[in-house]
Amino acid sequence: MTRRRGTHWRDACYRIGRSTTGLGLFATAPIRRGAFIVEYSGERIPTRDARARERTFRARYMFEINSRWTVDGSPRTNVGRYANHSCRPNAESALRRGKVILRALRAIEPGEEITYDYGEEYFELFIKPKGCRCTKCTEAVTMREAKKRRAQATARPARPAARDLRRSRGAPSNTSAPSDRRRR
Ligand SMILES: [Zn+2]
Repeated sequence: MTRRRGTHWRDACYRIGRSTTGLGLFATAPIRRGAFIVEYSGERIPTRDARARERTFRARYMFEINSRWTVDGSPRTNVGRYANHSCRPNAESALRRGKVILRALRAIEPGEEITYDYGEEYFELFIKPKGCRCTKCTEAVTMREAKKRRAQATARPARPAARDLRRSRGAPSNTSAPSDRRRR
């Protein structure tokens, strides 16, 4: 196995830290749009073998370069593996001189989590079954829940807004929201 040493941590623009989904990669300095962040390093293995490992061992860190070669990014020395997936990423993966790298899609502020889109195949295989927990998807869930709560509140307003007073008093509610569901 070939091990490549990455950038020394003191020169790096990132750190590994706690994220909502476990560990993640966080910017420690401003990163310019398009700037190189880190290599997704690992041994090159035949894509055929990588797919077998994914199916058999649920190997999660296979980065497919093409139908022939895949980078096995499983070792912890591969800092790139700590970057989480997002459906609204601030970084992207790219091939540069045969190496897989992550680079900034836009300017990234210190403290921001560095994320990239893992791609459709990975999403279907590993993320979709449990539900995506990226900021975009969790925001969508929060918005749906808030909408549901608003709909319930409109059905039986605890403290209706002034403009809703007339309507809510005049028309009887046609939604049968049980009172014990109004907790907030
Ligand atoms: Zn998502």
